[in-house]
Amino acid sequence: MKNRIWISIPACIFFAGCIGPFKDHFPETQFPPELKVITRKAWKWQKIKGKPPIPQEIKKITIHHGGKEFSPEKDPVEYLHNLQKWSRKEKKWVDIPYHFMIDLNGVIYEARPLAYPGDTNTAYDPTGHALICVMGNYEVQNLGPEQLQAVVDLTAYLAGKYDLTIRDIGGHKDYVETLCPGKDLYRYIEDGTIQYEVNRLLKKKHVQQK
Ligand SMILES: [Zn+2]
Repeated sequence: MKNRIWISIPACIFFAGCIGPFKDHFPETQFPPELKVITRKAWKWQKIKGKPPIPQEIKKITIHHGGKEFSPEKDPVEYLHNLQKWSRKEKKWVDIPYHFMIDLNGVIYEARPLAYPGDTNTAYDPTGHALICVMGNYEVQNLGPEQLQAVVDLTAYLAGKYDLTIRDIGGHKDYVETLCPGKDLYRYIEDGTIQYEVNRLLKKKHVQQK
């Protein structure tokens, strides 16, 4: 009898997982343990209705800022829910325009599934770009060290996953006339800090795999 209970508990968990509310077209991404990401499931992302597209091929990683000042009192998860509602209702986009969001503390959130090209209010085609957005306005705010580290870690993960090089890393303003991602974030792209750190992580991973 005891044995039967032990067998049935994992079976229930497995079954519930199969039919649960998050069984959709986008099963959870498995991030490496060293990259802490708040998954869509964890922040209660609202699913995209309808059939998923043929996944886009990721060829670039492009860094943005949110464009609106972000205060430490503001709740990032509430912001994500509002951004998702606004994107769908007002802009008629399929989801939040970016694939990943980073908050003031450098916490990374998974947003639009990478299968979908991102969206933009400016005249560049983001198809093939993995879009990372740092919440805030870095024309007027300063980027914190945790945020910079999160940009580097996430960019290195994406570059490794999609077999990209540091030449494929850029900021929004590298493609179109815009202030995005703001001078205090863009300076780390312009002076090569982000590319250098990403390269270092990629090389380290490469050595570990050997
Ligand atoms: Zn941008």
